[in-house]
Amino acid sequence: MNAAAFVMKDHSLTPAQVPPTVVETLDSAEKAALVARIQRLLKERDATLVAHYYTSPELQELADATGGYVSDSLDMARFGTECRSGTLIVAGVRFMGETAKILNPEKRVLMPDLGAECSLDLGCPIDEFAAFCDQHPDRTVVVYANTSAAVKARSDWVVTSGIALDLVKHLAEKGEKLIWAPDRHLGAYVQQETGVDMLLWNGACVVHEAFKADGLRQLRAEHPDAQVLVHPESPLDVIAQADLVGSTTALVKAVTELPAKKFIIATDNGLFHKMKLAAPDKILLEAPIVGKGATCVSCAHCPWMAMNGLRNLARVLEVGDHEIRIDEAIRERAALPIRRLLDFAKQRRQVVLGNNDA
Ligand code: SF4
Repeated sequence: MNAAAFVMKDHSLTPAQVPPTVVETLDSAEKAALVARIQRLLKERDATLVAHYYTSPELQELADATGGYVSDSLDMARFGTECRSGTLIVAGVRFMGETAKILNPEKRVLMPDLGAECSLDLGCPIDEFAAFCDQHPDRTVVVYANTSAAVKARSDWVVTSGIALDLVKHLAEKGEKLIWAPDRHLGAYVQQETGVDMLLWNGACVVHEAFKADGLRQLRAEHPDAQVLVHPESPLDVIAQADLVGSTTALVKAVTELPAKKFIIATDNGLFHKMKLAAPDKILLEAPIVGKGATCVSCAHCPWMAMNGLRNLARVLEVGDHEIRIDEAIRERAALPIRRLLDFAKQRRQVVLGNNDA
């Protein structure tokens, strides 16, 4: 089937399916007690904390201070393969815990809250996705990291936003037509930039989809000296106004390295913590969302990322439950497309000088 003729059912979540964003509040005494308890338990349990950029400043600081790691999803999993601890505590969302387990089967992978999901993952159930792929056997299946282990196991390639353009161009050069899942905005951006024949799954990130082109135009007019940085899970009319489109890692790097003093940033505002640490002299403004004078679903902060806190981190270290478990056949199959991506990224670094954003 030709991609232009294809219409896919909407797989985005309704507002009713999205939990409210509830950020943990702690007074300073409780915070200090929890931090001390977690530091002790990490040592006692031979555990390392790995946190995503979108988690709270407290969790990120704790990961950094205890020999853990703060990064994007794939890099978190890659770090897990290098660290010696028998247990990884993944502060993030479920697919990140699963990716860590897929690449580190010998380790225990625990999460503060196993209910921390992702709208892209939830919007791509394996049965429907497998049936869709079966209808298009002539197409190579490329899935974003934000998917379940079962969906990864059904794919040929796993991809991250940082390397999506390179990989899709590479596959197209080999004459391959693609299925892309689950993010329609990232897929549309890749399609626009590469012109490759792609059938797009129709899912969306509730955080990035909320950024608004009209509000962004107005904010840019108010701050003509600001550079606009956009994550490619945002809508195309927001991406069109970007000075730089990139992954979370690329956006942190841009704030640090670009000469501009002021930035308007369209991504989860949890990333601002890392940006402020990396470039304390820069002015960072949030790109506008639906919430300006109205209501918003996520308000630029992922409700599932916010489910990670110091209290449930201490609890999971104490009790040792909330373990990620994956059927071994699925895990082995899911590891193949992830390893394929890691190998591709490694080769590209050798070929493309200076491009180390995978
Ligand atoms: S920010 Fe969006 S893509 Fe990231 S975990 Fe939350 S819902 Fe998923």
